[in-house]
Amino acid sequence: MGAERPEDERAQVAAFARARDQVLARIAAAARRAGRDPDDVQLVAVSKTVPAERVRDAIAAGLTVLGENRVQEGEAKKAVAPGAAWHLVGPLQSNKARKAVETFDVIESVDSVGLAARLSRIALELGRAPLRVLLQVNVDDDPAKAGFGPGSVEAALPGLLELAGLRVDGLMTVGRLASSAAAARPTFVALRALSERLRSRHPRLGRELSMGMTDDFEVAVEEGATIVRVGRGLFGERG
Ligand SMILES: *Cc1c(COP(=O)(O)O)cnc(C)c1O
Repeated sequence: MGAERPEDERAQVAAFARARDQVLARIAAAARRAGRDPDDVQLVAVSKTVPAERVRDAIAAGLTVLGENRVQEGEAKKAVAPGAAWHLVGPLQSNKARKAVETFDVIESVDSVGLAARLSRIALELGRAPLRVLLQVNVDDDPAKAGFGPGSVEAALPGLLELAGLRVDGLMTVGRLASSAAAARPTFVALRALSERLRSRHPRLGRELSMGMTDDFEVAVEEGATIVRVGRGLFGERG
């Protein structure tokens, strides 16, 4: 990691601040279209593959909630880029669960009962409880995607809500690879409907809905997203 020259760093921070303002303005406009309060939507800046030095500049520009999809990458960046909260948004193998609990403030990608139980136990052991988690749901039942099926999350939920080490803040989904933002809308509608149905029976399930990425976050906000995960729209195309 080479040292940045101060003038380059200032320009980079200013560029991130502009990108952040633009994304926040688009979130706010989408929220207003749906009669929602823009403050009810949190922006997670997905910094996977972005070098730690640029992540530091992003934090300086106010992008203080970051998302990573690999435990080790998140751990390495967090060590040299302080001042942010970190969300894990990618698949978590059980042998990395302990490191994930040590590193991340929120684990958005809990996709099995076994993983949830393990995270709960580790969070209690480490004195990190309650650990905030989201349940990843494969609402489209896409065989290529991780996550609970809509039926299996319903069956598992009572047990998950009993885990003393976790606080289940809500649901997360990765939309289908859609050719247009509009094509992603049914996925978002389905996740919100599932959340409402589950919460009517299980009030302890939190109301967070993490859905929407660079190509479709405005549609997601219109359909009720409380967390959007934006990578390329802030950091540019990944190499
Ligand atoms: C990479 C990634 C994102 C961000 O995707 P962009 O298209 O770059 O906005 C969001 N969520 C998850 C789970 C990801 O892996």
